[in-house]
Amino acid sequence: MKSSVSHLAIFGGQPVFDKTVHVGAPNIGDRHRLHELIDDALDRRWLTNDGPYVQAFERQLTDLLAVRNCVATCNATSGLMLVAAALGLRGEVIMPSLTFVATAHALTWQGVTPVFCDVDPVTWTLDPRKAEDLITSKTTALLGVHLWGTACDLTGLQRLASRHDLKLVYDAAHALGTSYAGRPLGSFGDAEVFSFHATKICNTFEGGAIATDDDDLAARVALARNFGFVDVDRVVSLGINAKMSEVNAAMGLVSLESLDQFVEANRRNWQRYREGLQSVLGLTLYEPPMRDRSWTHQYVVAEVHEEAGLSRDELGQILAAENVGVRRYFYPGCHRMEPYWTECPDVALRLPVTEAILGRTLVLPTGTATTVETVDRICEFIRFAIRNSNQIRIRLRSPDQRG
Ligand SMILES: *Cc1c(COP(=O)(O)O)cnc(C)c1O
Repeated sequence: MKSSVSHLAIFGGQPVFDKTVHVGAPNIGDRHRLHELIDDALDRRWLTNDGPYVQAFERQLTDLLAVRNCVATCNATSGLMLVAAALGLRGEVIMPSLTFVATAHALTWQGVTPVFCDVDPVTWTLDPRKAEDLITSKTTALLGVHLWGTACDLTGLQRLASRHDLKLVYDAAHALGTSYAGRPLGSFGDAEVFSFHATKICNTFEGGAIATDDDDLAARVALARNFGFVDVDRVVSLGINAKMSEVNAAMGLVSLESLDQFVEANRRNWQRYREGLQSVLGLTLYEPPMRDRSWTHQYVVAEVHEEAGLSRDELGQILAAENVGVRRYFYPGCHRMEPYWTECPDVALRLPVTEAILGRTLVLPTGTATTVETVDRICEFIRFAIRNSNQIRIRLRSPDQRG
């Protein structure tokens, strides 16, 4: 990096990256294998409705997650909705605000009120003690989120749920390939819901899966996923269309074959980010506690503290100008999004840990689309920017700035 800041894109220079590198660029497995599988599905003329790929994908997930049942869905949001309906959730469900808005929307869509709870400052997941304070006569469930693939306090939440006779559900959208004390996430609580959206570690373009050891629950969500059909023309209950198609499942099968490589690329990048950023004043990387040694390093979450000299948003702004597509996941928090914010703006007051986290985190690019060379250059740029924060800050705050 040149010694003066004048070459930076915000000063009118050329961006450091000529092509955008961004958070959430999909991991893609063996594309030739994918093409073959899709050709076979076309030859079979069996494109959806519980086809052989969906069944194979569900079987493989069941093995990987060491759980009795996996029901594939068109996405995780529908999966959460099906679980909420099948468990008969009503009234209020306690969940963190620090998550993708789909977690809250899935409940609201089912007529259930999400009650936002603060998170543990170390794991950033639902805090059982704070959750307990929010339990009322209307509470029917706890919904934990394994944020960044870090396991929730499974013991604490299970104990709380049992004591108050509540259902316990996990949003496991980030949790594929992660275990807790040697047991894969997927079989905890009443059900866990995985996402295979394009940005997740393994993707099916769009997709999700409900994992559960409860055979009855699995049967109910499988039924509801397909309009409530038990037979060609026999419908026994209310259902919806939340099926996964064969082309999605084919992508899933191919993705699972490469899961180890995806994790390896993430580990390698994460290590590289850590080395490249360890000496940077005011910048740290989120890391789960030791017990999560199986962590897939799917997200590189930087925390920008005051000593950095640049705010999180200023750093994000200049990285964007250099064509590095960073994200402020999950800013500003579900509680500050509609329809929740208008209904209950006071909620922010009881979420100090969540609000602080959302004010300082910046997610950096990783996955198989991001090379180590790219990681090194991003680190070099961040080191340079923070060393020169005074000049950059003045530039960002001057009214005549370009671009
Ligand atoms: C991606 C994501 C979802 C939604 O998954 P879809 O498959 O896109 O519906 C839900 N919760 C979290 C935490 C997510 O990151």
